[in-house]
Amino acid sequence: MNFENTLAFAQEMDQADPLRDIRNEFLFPQQNGKPFIYLCGNSLGLQPKVAREVLEVQLSNWQNLAVEGWFEGDSPWMFYHKELKKLMAPIVGASAAEVCPMNTLTVNLHLLMVSFYKPKAGRYKIIMEAGAFPSDQYAIESQVRFHGYDPKDAIIEVVPREGEYTLRTDDIISIIKENGTEIALVMFGGVNYFTGQWFNMEAITKAGHAAGAVVGFDLAHAAGNVPLKLHDWDIDFACWCSYKYQNSGPGGISGIFVHEKHFSDSTLNRFAGWWGYQEEQRFKMEKGFVPEVGADGWQVSCTQVMPMALYHASLQIFEKAGFIAPLRTKSKTLTSYLFYVINEVNNKLGVEQYKIITPAEEADRGAQVSIIARAEGKKIFDLLVANNVLGDWREPNVIRLSPVPLYNSFEDVFKTGELLLSIGRELL
Ligand SMILES: *Cc1c(COP(=O)(O)O)cnc(C)c1O
Repeated sequence: MNFENTLAFAQEMDQADPLRDIRNEFLFPQQNGKPFIYLCGNSLGLQPKVAREVLEVQLSNWQNLAVEGWFEGDSPWMFYHKELKKLMAPIVGASAAEVCPMNTLTVNLHLLMVSFYKPKAGRYKIIMEAGAFPSDQYAIESQVRFHGYDPKDAIIEVVPREGEYTLRTDDIISIIKENGTEIALVMFGGVNYFTGQWFNMEAITKAGHAAGAVVGFDLAHAAGNVPLKLHDWDIDFACWCSYKYQNSGPGGISGIFVHEKHFSDSTLNRFAGWWGYQEEQRFKMEKGFVPEVGADGWQVSCTQVMPMALYHASLQIFEKAGFIAPLRTKSKTLTSYLFYVINEVNNKLGVEQYKIITPAEEADRGAQVSIIARAEGKKIFDLLVANNVLGDWREPNVIRLSPVPLYNSFEDVFKTGELLLSIGRELL
């Protein structure tokens, strides 16, 4: 596409955008009486306008039905998660049985590793990306220790080449091959939180399986952002949070995926709880855990109705938008436009003031663009915020800007470019 760095062009693009009205479903934070240009949906998605109402509904159910709400009312809590499963499935490319909303992300990462990290003598290592989100690093290290191994020995991190920021698929695959028989688990992010790189999940899964390892993904920055085919790619397990690209609110519910091929594997360990028990028999309260078939069998505690109501409301917006395919179509163009605009700004400044470390290739990224400023990165970030553009700052030196197709416009991107230009001129 031939982009132009003008307001008229950006507005034309917005006019032609079939998803342009979806942004009216969301509430934008304000500063000095003006809404922010919100480019932080990779960290915390915006509040859907219906959020307050869906919470009111559940508060009324609680008020009017109290304990009977579990089995009575329009949408009994006992089966409420099933409505979410139907809508989560197309977002991650799975069957409804393979997904379940529960807990929060790091908790689920632990629970799934209890099942799928089964180290034994000679095959106990985990391959992961260097620079993974800290919570994942801590979770994986503590799992390794829990099994009596030393993280220094048992965790192999794939590191970018000298002078590079992102990983090459070939390098990931050769490290998996080199360590083949020693690897118990390949545990990768889908999209890296810092660089915005979307890893080749299918190729990583194939290589992991060829080495005889189990393969899992943390999809915190991928779910709701890029198109996923967890079932077809034969991924063993995955989990994600829903408060980033899926707008379910701070601390929102997490989702898990367990591939169907594992449903009948009774050798998998679980840290079990009553809500994972066979649904039909759950209230017989009998001794001896019998898991429900599918991802539901990994539930531990009873349904978190309030956060699920928020996630449900947001999933219905995805449904309205036609799920991931149309959003991805817009996202590719919108993010490419941000790349283009930043390059134009650098050209005008006559110096690479804003270095993009996110891969430019569409297949290697989602909606996030990570920028390292030539100097004064934090000051630039603060000036962006002061001028109503809200991205986020990640130590030590990255500004992350994420144009989200649900609620960002081409005009947002153009205006951000104009601001980056004027800030750049001020600082030069
Ligand atoms: C955001 C994020 C988390 C956060 O975990 P919580 O348990 O939801 O606090 C974990 N891992 C990754 C990769 C993330 O991007």
